Amino acid sequence: MKFYIKTYGCQMNERDSEAAASALAASGHEMVQDENNADILMFNTCSVRDQAERKALGKLGILIKLKKQKPDIIIGVLGCMAQRMKEQIIEKIPHVDFVAGTDQFHKLPEIVESTILKRKHIVAVDADSEIIENLSGHLNSKNQISAFISVMRGCNRFCSYCIVPYVRGRERSRDKKEILEEANMLVNAGIKEIVLLGQNIAAYGLEGRGQPTEESPFAELLQTLSGLDGLLRIRFTSPHPQYFNQKLIDAMASLPKVCKNLHLPMQSGSDRILELMNRHYTAKKYLSIVDSLKEKIPGMTFSSDIIVGFPTETESDFNETRRVMREVGYDNAYIFKYSPRSGTKAAEMKDDVPQAVKDERNQILLAALDETTGRHNKALVGSTIEVLVEGVSKRNSERWCGRSSSNKVVVFEPLPGIKIGDLINLEITRATAMTLFGK
Ligand code: SF4
Repeated sequence: MKFYIKTYGCQMNERDSEAAASALAASGHEMVQDENNADILMFNTCSVRDQAERKALGKLGILIKLKKQKPDIIIGVLGCMAQRMKEQIIEKIPHVDFVAGTDQFHKLPEIVESTILKRKHIVAVDADSEIIENLSGHLNSKNQISAFISVMRGCNRFCSYCIVPYVRGRERSRDKKEILEEANMLVNAGIKEIVLLGQNIAAYGLEGRGQPTEESPFAELLQTLSGLDGLLRIRFTSPHPQYFNQKLIDAMASLPKVCKNLHLPMQSGSDRILELMNRHYTAKKYLSIVDSLKEKIPGMTFSSDIIVGFPTETESDFNETRRVMREVGYDNAYIFKYSPRSGTKAAEMKDDVPQAVKDERNQILLAALDETTGRHNKALVGSTIEVLVEGVSKRNSERWCGRSSSNKVVVFEPLPGIKIGDLINLEITRATAMTLFGK
């Protein structure tokens, strides 16, 4: 049968969808890109924000029309919202045929098969430790040079605003050997860059140790993967600052294949708010990681997640966030206006920062970010940057683009002989806040 998967939310969801699609393709189904051509429609959902869930529920609701026209069509809800709402999804939207939670992706071929044969609702949301080594399939397409690898699942941190530990369960790390095999397979298929994924990736391999230690199995994993011939670059996301120790800093500094860009979620620059968020670090500790990396790795860039308007956030707390942001000098940041997620600790607090104040703080940070990226990009004009060629630019088919190790996109006019996946040097001739132009 023909299947279609739409993914909401983060890169981990994208990776789960890819692995699930690969398992379905291996069991004889065919993936299609147009939902109108599919017999099985699946929605891999996100629960991080209420808005993301409402979007998915809205989409599922309007599929009733399609289900009436084509009663044989199968509709499935996967991932975080499936895990959080379980059978409630079917109670609300009875034309959904199956619900498969965050540990059920590897079982999708069976779930789909049962739905086809039995024609009754299925709700599969049990925890299943087998998923950890049964979700390594990829769908490499022609000209693809970058691929995701999930190295761990779940999160133990329980940041007070976050639903992830409740829907994705506790941390489970994959065996290093299995990760290496997957990376090897990808490199043999032409992949040049791998992006390692985990909700709390710097804690890879530390299950059962409770608190962060001086050890860093994740740094060792980076070192092992760096030894793969043919692999040019390694990126990873997202590390929690509490686990970012000296071993990991040294590994990033000493392994040239590990990219000079780090997404290090700050969330707030106020120690008081960080404590309420249950983040277990201070602004000083956060800045000390950034400073060490800047000192050891010239050209290092940073991005972050920041929440404005967390309960009780005062003007002075917000100014601390602005200060840390200025000191780091982010080249990108995802800035969120706080909204409570039911079931989390923070949802028990009064959401007392007025919407207008959240909007204003959001605008102030966005403007600051724009100013910093514009300034950083302009400073690169005249310099030479090595980029990994990604192919035709999305905005202008006459031009190509590539990405620097520091995650800067550079647009250029291709010369004959340049191929996707090449590493080339470009002289930067012009810059905007978003893009660099080179020759
Ligand atoms: S580290 Fe915190 S914010 Fe990140 S997934 Fe875990 S609980 Fe959520």
